Amino acid sequence: MSVLLTVTALPVSAQVSTSMRVQDLGINAGIGAVTATVWSLARGRGLKRAALQGLIGGATIGAARQVAASPFSGSGFVGRELSAVGISALTSAGSDHTTLSFPVGPVEFQLTDGREFDWRVNATYAVAAIMNSASRTTHIDAKLSMYSGTFVFRDNRETLHTSNGEARGSEFFGGIKIAKSAFTNSNGTPSVLYHENVHVLQDDYLAFAVANPLEGLVLNQTSIGRRITRHIDVGLLSLGLNGLANSLVPYDSRPWEREAYALTPRRNY
Ligand SMILES: [Zn+2]
Repeated sequence: MSVLLTVTALPVSAQVSTSMRVQDLGINAGIGAVTATVWSLARGRGLKRAALQGLIGGATIGAARQVAASPFSGSGFVGRELSAVGISALTSAGSDHTTLSFPVGPVEFQLTDGREFDWRVNATYAVAAIMNSASRTTHIDAKLSMYSGTFVFRDNRETLHTSNGEARGSEFFGGIKIAKSAFTNSNGTPSVLYHENVHVLQDDYLAFAVANPLEGLVLNQTSIGRRITRHIDVGLLSLGLNGLANSLVPYDSRPWEREAYALTPRRNY
C-alpha cells in the first residue's frame, strides 16, 4: 500500500509512461531483428530464425536500457551486462557458436559455447579512459564507476564545455564525465548519470554489434591484422560512424538523445 501511495503521489510526468516503455522496446526489437538478419545472411544462413532471434535480442537491449536509466545504485552495471546478452543474440545469428560478452570498462570478458573463456580490449574505449585520467580537471569516481560498469570521472568545473553547449554530463566511448554542478542537491549519485548510462549501452551496440565485427573482417585479411584482432578491437570504424552521425544530426533530433531523455524524464539535469 505504501508503495502504491508513493507512486500515485508523484507527478505523472516524473515517470516513464508505459506507452514510452513499450515504444522503446519495439524500436529496439526492430533494430535487433534487422541487425541479426544481416549477420545471418552475411553468413549464408536463413532469415526467419535470425529475425526472431534478433527481435528477442533487440527487446533485451531495450529492456537493458530501461534498467540502466532507472535511478538505483548499480543500474548502469546491470543494464550494461543485460544489454551485452542481447547484443550476443544479434551477433551470433546464423553462427554455430554463441559468444556471451561481459563488458567492464573497456574490457570484454567472453564465454563461447559455455566453455571457452577469452577477453578483448576496446582500444578506442581505453584511449578515451586514458585521456580522461590524464586530464587535470578530472578524477575517477570509483563508486560511480562500479555503479555504471564503466569509468566515471568527476570534472571539477561547474559545467562541461561540449560541442552541444554547456552540459552537466557527457559520455564518450564508454566513459562518463560528470561536472561539479551535477552533484549539487544530489545524495551522491547525480541524476545525469542515468542519462549517460543509456549512452554507454548505445555505444556498446554500435561498437559490438555493428562496427567492430565489420572492422575485424577487414583487418583479418592480413596476418598482422589477425594478430591485432586476436584480443583488440581497434574501434576506428565506430569512432568514424559516431562522429559522422553526430555531425549530420542536430542535437535535438538525435534518436539516441531522445531515447536517453525519454527513459529518464524530469530528473532535473
Ligand atoms: Zn545525452
